Amino acid sequence: MTENRQAIDRTPPPVHLRIGAERRTAGSGGAHEHIDPATGAANAAIPLAGPAEVNEAVAVAQEAFESWRRTSPAIRRRLLLTLADLIEQNAEEFARRGALDNGTPLLYGRGFPINAAEWTRYYAGWADKILGDVNGLPTADGEFGYTIAKPYGVIGIIITWNGPLISLAMKIPAALAAGNTVVVKPSELTPFSAELFADLVERAGFPAGVVNVLPGDAAAGQALVEHPLVRKISFTGGPATARRILQSASATMKPTLLELGGKSANIVFDDADLDDACAIGTRFSLIALAGQGCAFATRMLVQDTVYDEVVARVTAIAESNRPGDPFEEGVLTGPVVNEDAVHRILGMIERAQRDGATLVTGGHRIGGELADGYYIEPTVFTDVDPQSELAQTEVFGPVLAIFRFRTEEEALELANSTPYSLSSYVQTRDLNRAIRLATELHAGQTLINGATNLRVARPFGGFGISGVGKEGGRHGLEEFLQVKSVGIVVG
Ligand code: NAD
Repeated sequence: MTENRQAIDRTPPPVHLRIGAERRTAGSGGAHEHIDPATGAANAAIPLAGPAEVNEAVAVAQEAFESWRRTSPAIRRRLLLTLADLIEQNAEEFARRGALDNGTPLLYGRGFPINAAEWTRYYAGWADKILGDVNGLPTADGEFGYTIAKPYGVIGIIITWNGPLISLAMKIPAALAAGNTVVVKPSELTPFSAELFADLVERAGFPAGVVNVLPGDAAAGQALVEHPLVRKISFTGGPATARRILQSASATMKPTLLELGGKSANIVFDDADLDDACAIGTRFSLIALAGQGCAFATRMLVQDTVYDEVVARVTAIAESNRPGDPFEEGVLTGPVVNEDAVHRILGMIERAQRDGATLVTGGHRIGGELADGYYIEPTVFTDVDPQSELAQTEVFGPVLAIFRFRTEEEALELANSTPYSLSSYVQTRDLNRAIRLATELHAGQTLINGATNLRVARPFGGFGISGVGKEGGRHGLEEFLQVKSVGIVVG
């Protein structure tokens, strides 16, 4: 362990406000004391933008927009492809930044840049394929028409802390390919990946002002939402903040793309490959990102004929995976993001027991040499009341709730019984059943038998309180384009 700790530098890089070509080391929003979640120790003072810097950045982005929207699509494509290469070449440094930002283990942190590069390349490819429609031949009265897909202008991008690099890559390349410029507000909790992303944008050769990055807190986010020259907001975070954003956006009637939380069901039928089903069900609830993933499969619905076996297997996997220092090679689960998260998660664990759920394993903060960091044991509950808080509310921590069902109808009803509708998972060898469920599950996506989350060509985004709008695929590009109609009378 000590060997690896020495091998990787744990010193946080300096963080800047990026307005056009300028880098500033201080902002009017004061400073945020960054705490290393692995150790609980303060390790950096992060400069925060306030409304003053938001105003400056939006003005610079608006000016840049006038030339960026006229920049040839081939140039936009080339710049995005260069950025993608740089992201990939800096995978190791992004992994280090992820561990510093929020305690993402290196193993997972090395995967994000590969995916982020793919998202960037995919949207590079769209830059010269933005088309309008022609509304037919001239009609009897001599009219015909066509549409123009226009960029909005300045897009305000506000992201949360759990996957800073991938969140940036899901938004910025699509916005730029469509001809918009952006002002980005990363979470104040996780500024280090965004700092490197901004460095690479500069190195790729994007004109100054096309991408502006302002670390800041809620005040900066709100100023961005309220600014009249910000034409659209693309937000990733929680439903409570999303409600505040919708209120602030109402004054300017600003459209908002919202990627929010989930309580996704993973339905395991008795004909499933149980090795895969249990691996997927634990990886994306208890192991990766210490359970802090929006689309994670946090409710496992298991058919009664294999219920006991699945619970035993899941428990064994949970108990064999000890969380550890994210900088240590081989560690799969790191800490949760901060002390507040520890209290929130432990509070939900306590209330779940009070509500009558059975705690099968886990349930505690980890002590010993990890006591100063924010580590929580992978936690599994059974006998969960479907109406209880644990069944109905996102935990955003390493806590899995297992439910029993008998029939497909029962599974469907249980799966669709929360206000969230982000993702859903089905494990079965019966593809007819899988396709029936894919149609009926009320969720933005259904992933069958281990299909991967966040494949760029597939649109991602929830329904209901899980969000509005899509990232990924053609739909992800269209979020950043406004359709204008032209009608012509042909004389
Ligand atoms: P949050 O909603 O508190 O914060 C997100 C961002 O919003 C931060 O940058 C924050 O500074 C900013 N913010 C806070 N108040 C604001 C305001 N009034 N106006 C403008 N901006 C403001 O983040 P959280 O709730 O801790 O994040 C976790 C949530 O994010 C979970 O619910 C998770 O499921 C969700 N999430 C969703 C996706 C997705 O793609 N669907 C991805 C990752 C995380």
